[in-house]
Amino acid sequence: MAVDRVDVVVVGAGIAGSAIARSCARRGLDVALIEQFTVGHDRGSSHGGVRIFRFAYPDPFYVALAQRALGDWRELEAERNTSFIELTGGVDHGDERAVREVYAALTAAGAHGELLPAPTASEMFPGLRFDGLACWSRDTGRVHADRAWRAIVDSARSHGAAIHESTRVDRIERTSDGARVFTDRVDFATTTVVVAAGGWVTALAGGHATLPPLEISEEHVFHFAPRPSIGAAWPSFIHYRDPEAAYGLFTPGEGLKVGEHHAGRVIAHPNERVGELDPDRRTAVLRYVEEWVPGVVALPVSETTCLYTTTPNEDFVLDRRGPVVIASPCSGHGFKFAPLIGELGADLVTGERSFERFAFRD
Ligand SMILES: Cc1cc2nc3c(=O)[nH]c(=O)nc-3n(C[C@H](O)[C@H](O)[C@H](O)COP(=O)(O)OP(=O)(O)OC[C@H]3O[C@@H](n4cnc5c(N)ncnc54)[C@H](O)[C@@H]3O)c2cc1C
Repeated sequence: MAVDRVDVVVVGAGIAGSAIARSCARRGLDVALIEQFTVGHDRGSSHGGVRIFRFAYPDPFYVALAQRALGDWRELEAERNTSFIELTGGVDHGDERAVREVYAALTAAGAHGELLPAPTASEMFPGLRFDGLACWSRDTGRVHADRAWRAIVDSARSHGAAIHESTRVDRIERTSDGARVFTDRVDFATTTVVVAAGGWVTALAGGHATLPPLEISEEHVFHFAPRPSIGAAWPSFIHYRDPEAAYGLFTPGEGLKVGEHHAGRVIAHPNERVGELDPDRRTAVLRYVEEWVPGVVALPVSETTCLYTTTPNEDFVLDRRGPVVIASPCSGHGFKFAPLIGELGADLVTGERSFERFAFRD
């Protein structure tokens, strides 16, 4: 089989791999971005119209990260002459300790945050019911995910990256000067290989490093039609509750997206995904909507599934062993950081720096 020589091979053109390929190409590296399906496919984690963007985390580390990411999104928007982030504002409510932590982390970072008693929050946002104290943050909203994903791939291409779709990487072997990447079409010799393979990451990179245990789950999301009196003026929201948080945000043209965080069925490998909704989870979400989201008709207008790849502490994985960089920024909250993950991943490729918090220990 023919062998192409490049500086960097990035495996996986989901949002993370695409962003890392873009950042590497912008630094003048010769990049091959390899995707087993096609860009925009719905079998991984990055598809769909929207994701929540927020500074509002209980952990100050992620507040600071989101603040940095917003600057990187704005730069991408300027480059592509369009907008991907809409700050509609958002509310976190439910478990009081979590809500107070979010407020403390926001204010410590100099970001906007306002504590609201439930009746005040209900007056501001009549489409939702509130479970105790709420924290309102103006810097929450949505990322237009599908558009952003395509724009990042287009940007990578415009900076010189070669995109190989419908090409599956079968294995990676270390060589004396880097790595050899074997695919079902063409093989690559490279100095560095980035494995940004989402739920497939352990299968592909597990032999090159001892990764933290990564749990793959098939999560459900639903869209609901807003009642006419509420229209499209929705804040994004997170409801901290037991056993799992619920979240929601408005998808223009589709309705209010609602899901449970990390409640889907656990699978051993992404190829075991069934793509069908679990009736118990469906019932649980419909009950949730009936109780807490009076501003929509509690019958979904669309429903789909999407993969989470989750570490035990819900941090990301972003580290390097020899010529192999491993990037798994998921745990159900990685999209909002994409252009910044691109830069951090490219830093690992060029050896400029590693990122302590996301390093794995083996
Ligand atoms: C239901 C749901 C809701 C979410 N909500 C939010 C949110 O509100 N806010 C937020 O910030 N984040 C959110 N996320 C998380 C976010 O979407 C993910 O963090 C992000 O999409 C992860 O992207 P990825 O590139 O790591 O994985 P993926 O998108 O899965 O990309 C991995 C790619 O690698 C490819 N690949 C795998 N193996 C091979 C191989 N051998 N050869 C070639 N290609 C290969 C796959 O086909 C895939 O395209 C949510 C995720 C889900 C599922």
